[in-house]
Amino acid sequence: MGYAAMLVVGGVVAVSAQRVLARLDSHPKKTYALRDDILIHGNEDLKEVALTFDDGPRPEIAREMLNVLGRYRARSTFFVVGSMVEQHPKLVRRMMNEGHEVANHSYSHPRLHGMDEYAIRAELARCDRAVFDATGARTNLFRPPGMRYDDTVLRAAQSLGYVTVHWNVAAQDFKPQPSDQIARKVLEAVKPGSVVLLHGHPDTLAALPMILDKLREKGYRFVTVSQMLGRLERPVYVKTNAYGAIPEAKPVAKPAARIARKVGKPAVRTEETTVPAIAAPPAAVDVPSWN
Ligand SMILES: [Zn+2]
Repeated sequence: MGYAAMLVVGGVVAVSAQRVLARLDSHPKKTYALRDDILIHGNEDLKEVALTFDDGPRPEIAREMLNVLGRYRARSTFFVVGSMVEQHPKLVRRMMNEGHEVANHSYSHPRLHGMDEYAIRAELARCDRAVFDATGARTNLFRPPGMRYDDTVLRAAQSLGYVTVHWNVAAQDFKPQPSDQIARKVLEAVKPGSVVLLHGHPDTLAALPMILDKLREKGYRFVTVSQMLGRLERPVYVKTNAYGAIPEAKPVAKPAARIARKVGKPAVRTEETTVPAIAAPPAAVDVPSWN
């Protein structure tokens, strides 16, 4: 899928492919790497930061993290692992219901580079399916485990409609370290438009209030990745799933499947047989209006 095709317009904004490409060619700042279709950081002219949390949800940490983020009214993006989502679906629903975005970090967290396209697509699809089963909402953002990727990974993600998200600030917080060290590493590196990589580690949890306090003091706003994408100088509109959890996402049998059962034939499982009824679809694009 090409760059222009990734603009999920949802009836909100329609931009022709030619116009997009013309703007990209002429634009002096490279905030979104077109060659690789990866978001590295957001708009450097805006005092906003996207906090991203990888590898969860781990209940013992994620619950408290959500409490802390809620106290600061800070929205963030969780790159979840599908197998963990299956174990903790309620936690993923809570993330969405509290205004956070849930994004795809594969099903089993393998290193995807070097894998064949079918296997890569399966990893992404299974994670998406787990999120969908838990929440009734789809994922539209993807971060490869360990940020290991090659062309096949990127093309597979694009072909499934994902925007791949890198980061430009990290604290190596997947390993134990003093929380003030994590906070210091983040705070020293954050600039307007930063995408911050964090993990569900106890030390990170302890560092989070320090990070949020300081950044808020400096005037930063906390945005989801889709909000950040929508506020690039060359905006990329992505359908968000923040606020997207659907309370009664229950599988509904397709009439054809019921009939098949009635006449004693095995029901054919199709995608449609498990699509929940969606009462109120979430807004297509979630872009804040402040500067
Ligand atoms: Zn990871």
